[in-house]
Amino acid sequence: MAELLRDHTTLRLGGPAGRFVEAHSEEELIAAVRAADESAEPLLVLSGGSNLVVADAGFPGTVVKVATTGIESDVEPGQGASCSGATVTVAAGEDWEAFVARAVASEWAGIEALSGIPGAVGSTPIQNVGAYGQEVSETIARVRVWDRVLKGVRTFTASECVFGYRTSRFKADPQRHVVLDVTFQLPCGTLGAPVKYAELARTLGVELGGRAPIAEVRDAVLRLRRGKGMVLDPADHDTWSAGSFFTNPILSNAVAAAALPDDAPRYPAGDGLLKTSAAWLIEHAGFSKGFGAELTGGRATLSTKHTLALTNRGAASATDLLTLARAVRAGVIERFGIELHHEPVLVGHTL
Ligand SMILES: Cc1cc2nc3c(=O)[nH]c(=O)nc-3n(C[C@H](O)[C@H](O)[C@H](O)COP(=O)(O)OP(=O)(O)OC[C@H]3O[C@@H](n4cnc5c(N)ncnc54)[C@H](O)[C@@H]3O)c2cc1C
Repeated sequence: MAELLRDHTTLRLGGPAGRFVEAHSEEELIAAVRAADESAEPLLVLSGGSNLVVADAGFPGTVVKVATTGIESDVEPGQGASCSGATVTVAAGEDWEAFVARAVASEWAGIEALSGIPGAVGSTPIQNVGAYGQEVSETIARVRVWDRVLKGVRTFTASECVFGYRTSRFKADPQRHVVLDVTFQLPCGTLGAPVKYAELARTLGVELGGRAPIAEVRDAVLRLRRGKGMVLDPADHDTWSAGSFFTNPILSNAVAAAALPDDAPRYPAGDGLLKTSAAWLIEHAGFSKGFGAELTGGRATLSTKHTLALTNRGAASATDLLTLARAVRAGVIERFGIELHHEPVLVGHTL
């Protein structure tokens, strides 16, 4: 029987895979990708399925699930704060949250604010995952990939990965690279980097820019995330999502001046640009938490804890979810003239 992709995505959406292969070693992963490419079959690389919205019709080609394992570091466990920095290479299929827990326990700093993000390590460079003032690109030293065009293994240093806000060269050129492993350079020690996110600083009881022990940062982030339904919990439909559905819009100062009300959040985003909050725009366009009852029969709604997460209440189809996404996007355009862009990867449909 065909493998259903809804069993492999956190939204629990997606029809059957044409073929489904689980790759447990790097050799198996490369062989599966090569076989699909040589037979000119469409290929979907799937890891944790936490950033995917797969169509109800499924995926007609080969789905390769990355299930590779292995973590190598150049410091001994327990060496902790005495090392000058840990270089850690992690296989793409390793679970990200388990790796963060291990890093914090090993006194490796730099990724503690990324606690609770679902998915695999190999997916983190794809959209340069970020949360609570940290981005994974700050600690990535290099990314080893299988290049489907050159048909060989390549290594990109961090600067060659072209990381940006929720993007990278891998996201920009999605059919080309399969991440094999990621090497992190993590400062050793128990104290985290300066806290850059106001809500996290408040929770930790430090000033913005102050520092706190990494174990406390991790606990605080997990607590904050749970309150927003942003830590996976099979019993909680608010977490049957792909995380934030829309990215925070980056606007020129001129566009922002014309479109944004005075009380809308504004964060500096480089030369003549600012970032505003997609959640704020959605709420102020009239969509409150839990919105969607009439639109989709309640099958797909905004999370009851966070307006930025679109959720499956148990019986949603991908069509329901996209109906909701389109309504929210249209409402924000109508109210503010700002177009929201989706963050998850859509497979087999468009928004
Ligand atoms: C509750 C929840 C909270 C979230 N919170 C955050 C957050 O705070 N910050 C954030 O940035 N994201 C967040 N996300 C989104 C998501 O967890 C991340 O983007 C994560 O890195 C996706 O990993 P994955 O293994 O599940 O990738 P998948 O969903 O399996 O794949 C995502 C994309 O990456 C590609 N891909 C996967 N593995 C590989 C590989 N080895 N090589 C090449 N391409 C690959 C896939 O083809 C697909 O295009 C959240 C999601 C959920 C459900």
